[in-house]
Amino acid sequence: MTIHPTALADQRQAACADALSRLKAAAAGPGARLSYEPDHPWLTEQLRLITLSLTIGGAKFCEHLNAHPASPRVVHAHAWTPGVLVCPDCTKFPYLIRDNTCDRCHRHSRRGLWTTIAAHGPVLFTYALCRTCHTEVDGPA
Ligand SMILES: [Zn+2]
Ligand SMILES: [Zn+2]
Repeated sequence: MTIHPTALADQRQAACADALSRLKAAAAGPGARLSYEPDHPWLTEQLRLITLSLTIGGAKFCEHLNAHPASPRVVHAHAWTPGVLVCPDCTKFPYLIRDNTCDRCHRHSRRGLWTTIAAHGPVLFTYALCRTCHTEVDGPA
């Protein structure tokens, strides 16, 4: 089945609005905030890799996304599962950080990690960084 380009653009716009709404809802939680930091090169590279996996292939999807591959919708990507995209129902909040390993520098952080969600169109990318990396990528805590 082919989707008309106008319908596809409408679906993509709705998915982007849904992603932004979910981001704002997450930012309203305790200890969370919404910021508009310019993309750090590390974050830009992570988002580029996600886009590449979607456009040239290689991404793995949850069963719900596999059921509707052509429909733009909110998808979640997590730094700790590279190349895997899941629907909101398959994303569990709050995230359980198992080993306090920073997604950027890959060092163990005894002081815990800062979890961040970045919106990139309909993609919500979540990552957990040590204090040093968090300050560099996302600005002061
Ligand atoms: Zn799913
Ligand atoms: Zn780090």
